[in-house]
Amino acid sequence: MLQDEYVTLTLKKKKNIALIAHDNKKQTLIEWCRQHKAILENHILCGTGTTARMITDQTGLSVKGYNSGPLGGDQQIGAKIVEGGIDLVIFFSDPLTAQPHDPDVKALLRIAQVYDIPMACSRSAADFIISSPLMESTYEHQVINFNKNISDRAKTL
Ligand code: PGA
Repeated sequence: MLQDEYVTLTLKKKKNIALIAHDNKKQTLIEWCRQHKAILENHILCGTGTTARMITDQTGLSVKGYNSGPLGGDQQIGAKIVEGGIDLVIFFSDPLTAQPHDPDVKALLRIAQVYDIPMACSRSAADFIISSPLMESTYEHQVINFNKNISDRAKTL
């Protein structure tokens, strides 16, 4: 409904999962993917370029690769979130190393929050998410009604 503040969106049962790891965390993510391969292969996987390639090469999982993170890959995944094409983000970021694409990293965290997309930024958080019964079901969540937001802004600004 155009007048409602929020709309109900559904995260699908077969989830589009984005996988991203900073360089110091790539081996941790690959190991995590190996550990959870039986679950992950039931979903649709994508990731930033290098992370996606390394996961595919080292685990056999099929992962669609976008650009490398510092070359815009995080932004491509953010855009997919906006389009409703991502249901879950596993992002092993490195809190101890400065990243040239820090603004893009922040933008991805922010846009995942705006669209209420579950995101794990550490192995323990990823373990909790992958063990959730919600991995095997649909999930309805409330997201800001962007049509109403635009309509209201266009009338009042
Ligand atoms: P990469 O990008 O998978 O291409 O290394 C990840 C990142 O640093 O955001």
